[in-house]
This record gives sequence, C-alpha cells and structure tokens, in this order.
Amino acid sequence: MARQSERLLSLMQRLRLLHLPACYEQLADTAAQKEQPYLEFLENVLEAESQAKFERNVRLKTLWANFPFQKRLDQFDFAFQPSLDERKIRELASLRFLQNQENVILLGPPGVGKTHLAIALGLEAILQEQSTYFITVPELVAQLAQAQHENRLKEKMATFVKKAKLLILDEIGYLPVDSFAATCIFQIVSERYEHGSIVLTSNKSYGDWGEIFHDNALATAVLDRLLHHSHTINIKGDSYRLKEKRKAGLLAKTTAAPSPALVEEGKGSK
Ligand code: ADP
Ligand code: MG
Repeated sequence: MARQSERLLSLMQRLRLLHLPACYEQLADTAAQKEQPYLEFLENVLEAESQAKFERNVRLKTLWANFPFQKRLDQFDFAFQPSLDERKIRELASLRFLQNQENVILLGPPGVGKTHLAIALGLEAILQEQSTYFITVPELVAQLAQAQHENRLKEKMATFVKKAKLLILDEIGYLPVDSFAATCIFQIVSERYEHGSIVLTSNKSYGDWGEIFHDNALATAVLDRLLHHSHTINIKGDSYRLKEKRKAGLLAKTTAAPSPALVEEGKGSK
C-alpha cells in the first residue's frame, strides 16, 4: 500500500490539481497549528488551487495576446489628456461593452495614448479570463497575405474571427491596405458583428476610410457594421511622447506645433 503522501499526489495529478503538491503540506501544518475547522481547511486548499489556476490562465492569455507592451489603466495620466472623459474610459474598463458585443474605436493623432488604452482594456479582459488578441493592421495585412500564399487563409482568418473574444486592431490608417486585405478586414468585421468585440485605433477620421481602403463602398460597409454597436473615443490632445522628449530637454518648451518629422521620430520611443 502506497504512503498517504504518494496517494495524495497521485489523486492531485488525476484531478489536475497542479498547484497543490507544492503547498498542501504547509496548509495542513497551518490548519493543525491553528486548530482550524475541517471546512475552513478545505476552503483554503480549494482557494489556493483556484488562485494558482487563475494566475496561470492570466499568464498564458497575456502571452497569447501578442501585446507589444503592457500598460494598465492606472498607468494612464488622465490629467495630461483633458479631452478624454475619464469616466467613460473607466466605464469601458468595466467591460460591459465586451458582454454586449460592442466595439470601441479610439481615434486621435500619434502619441495620445490610443494603443496604451487599447492594451489596458485588453489586460482588463484577460483579468476577466476573456481571450484577447492584439495585432496592428499592417501586421494583420502581412500575415493574411502570407497565409494566402501558403494556402491556409481560412485557418488564419479563424484566429481573428473566432479565437479571441476581444480583437484589438491597432493603427488602421497609418498605411493604405490593398483590395485583398480590405476584403479580409471586411470579412473579419462582418463575422465578428454582434458576436465578439473589436477595439480599434486609428489616426484617421471616419471620412478618410475610403482612402485607406481605396474603395468608398467597402469602407462604408465596414464602418456600418463596426459602428452599429460601438463607442467612439476621440482624443484631441498633445502627444505624450513629445511631453517626455520636452522633459528630457530634447524639445524647446515653447514648441507649439511639432513638425511631422518629430512626431514620426517619437513614434518608436515607447
Ligand atoms: P498612440 O497609440 O496614440 O500613438 P501610445 O498609446 O503608443 O500612443 O502612447 C505612446 C507612449 O506614451 C506609450 O508609452 C504610452 O504608454 C504613453 N502614454 C500616452 N499617453 C499617456 C498618458 N496620458 N499617460 C501615461 N502614458 C501615456
Ligand atoms: Mg499606437
């Protein structure tokens, strides 16, 4: 007959209680020392396993999400961006929009925090154990073209259509998209319509989308589905990257309207 510890370990393995082998003895010692009631001990054991499972799940989902950086809402300085309605952003962070399959569109010039806010919403979704996938539109276009070339477009599209409860499409409009990519984006938006949320960021206003897609009718069709159940956040302030450059003494404090070259230069300095 195996020893009790061996029997316990084998039961834990069978039940896939992966964290308990490392902590059950200590929990049992504490329970004995404190003369805990049996039910309290049982609750502590289940709680320890449940917490470890949650943390592992969050870790794996965060890895899968493909974020370029991790920034949370509490790292966002709302005082720097007065055009932004903090209450509205906090309401979005409650993720009701995700439950209701609504979209969030963050618009504004470079550096105002669109990607930061999109990632912060993604991290909140992951904390609620919702799968989230981040991709920039240029990267999406490149991946779709590659998948088409390798004859596995359907499989690739499924990642963007079905696998993620929340899809973050960053930077639509920085580069124009060709007609193949435009059709794929239309399909992604259509198939997610009323099934799964999209958080999208863009430096272009809706009126310019015909130009991005080289096709006014397609742009209208995409916007029609995207905007039907959606929240648009228009950020009108200054670039945070330039504020950091000013702080570092790289720009004169009086610089009112930075040259586009500086804005572009700032783009890489996350
Ligand atoms: P955008 O996507 O609008 O170009 P980002 O979200 O990439 O801008 O922001 C650029 C950098 O500045 C990021 O490191 C981001 O975390 C930071 N940032 C932008 N706005 C704020 C803010 N209001 N408070 C704190 N950090 C900010
Ligand atoms: Mg960005």
